[in-house]
Amino acid sequence: MLIVKKFGGTSVANKERIFNVANRCIEEYKKGNDVVVVLSAMGKYTDELITMAKDINEKPPKREMDMLFTIGEQMSVALMAMAMNKLGVPAVSLNAFQVAMHTTSAYGNARLKRIDTERIRRELESKKIVIVTGFQGINKFDDYTTLGRGGSDTTAVALAAALHADACEIYTDVDGVYTADPRKVPTARKLKEITYDEMLDLATLGAGVLHNRSVEMAKKYGVPLVVRSSLNNEEGTVVKEDVQVERMLISGVAVDKDADRIAVIGLKDEPGIAFKVFDTLAKKNINVDVILQSIGRDGTKDISFTVNDNDLDDAVAALEANKARLTFQKIEANKEVAKLSIVGAGMMSNPGVAAKMFETLYNENVNINMISTSEIRVTVLINEKDAERAMNAVHEAFGLSD
Ligand code: ADP
Ligand code: ASP
Ligand code: MG
Repeated sequence: MLIVKKFGGTSVANKERIFNVANRCIEEYKKGNDVVVVLSAMGKYTDELITMAKDINEKPPKREMDMLFTIGEQMSVALMAMAMNKLGVPAVSLNAFQVAMHTTSAYGNARLKRIDTERIRRELESKKIVIVTGFQGINKFDDYTTLGRGGSDTTAVALAAALHADACEIYTDVDGVYTADPRKVPTARKLKEITYDEMLDLATLGAGVLHNRSVEMAKKYGVPLVVRSSLNNEEGTVVKEDVQVERMLISGVAVDKDADRIAVIGLKDEPGIAFKVFDTLAKKNINVDVILQSIGRDGTKDISFTVNDNDLDDAVAALEANKARLTFQKIEANKEVAKLSIVGAGMMSNPGVAAKMFETLYNENVNINMISTSEIRVTVLINEKDAERAMNAVHEAFGLSD
């Protein structure tokens, strides 16, 4: 069997944890399996690199940020290979260049396009454990890129797909995927199984336990994922196409505090305006999420939408630069908002789920700014200060609590 194992930052945060991971991988290797290990930077090292960079230049060039980021993962893989060597097992560390992990050119937010597997195969054939840097790639300019925060999960899934691995295991600092972030909702329960679609929505809407692109890729290539703890032997959560267990109405609740709201006020109420606003943002590669357009009055209308915190300044600048063409009077930006979402395939066949969520928020005296829904999700925009209280109340109302 070929097994891809990915370990996040907390799982390799210090010497003891590095040896813990080395031992777990060696155990697998000694069963006669081929083992490919994907690692993140140690502990909060990526955050520390950002602090260092911003101390030098508050708006560092994205290319140079990626150049800097790559050292975090490179440090982990080299130290892990040394640990395995110390334990008497042959291992080799490889970075994105050595493997050849080709990505799009967008620094800081690149997408994996193609992975050469030849070098990894060769190392596996010579009976080594292969340890690969997560999060990083290379682009057509032969520069380093990164896949976005949390991107090591995606590296692992992409490698599992490219190598046709038999299993892809994501080891982290919680026992699996829970009905809500167990650090914010103490009564959250671990899920035995969850579908790709539900997990994708949860990951996209703030459940940071998996990088959303890793779930997208796992679904696309049919890679079954297991999320489990690196610190114990609990079973974890299986993420797959369809689940066997009886489906609950709601599988999980997520909060995204990185959402900001932009209101474009006083736009001319005429055809093509929404296109021009969102085209301006798309050209800058800015993702827009929940959108609300007000009913026009006196020949004008307002359009509000959410963007990620990282994109707020660029979005406002792009709109302001086109003020005359876009015909708006002013822009209001609000950072103090959060998205609260409930996700569950069970809501497809059950009307009244949204109403129940709104009722719960009403009882908690939480005001709703914007609403967006899909077949398996309801998202509301609320004030950030209410986020945790609202999350716990909704979790309880849908019977998810322990
Ligand atoms: P790693 O460094 O291993 O990649 P992350 O910090 O990226 O770890 O992801 C694990 C964290 O995700 C957990 O510590 C937990 O606080 C958070 N989390 C958010 N939502 C959920 C959820 N629904 N289930 C489990 N963990 C969650
Ligand atoms: N080290 C990177 C980060 O902190 C990638 C990862 O951990 O997945 O975002
Ligand atoms: Mg992570």
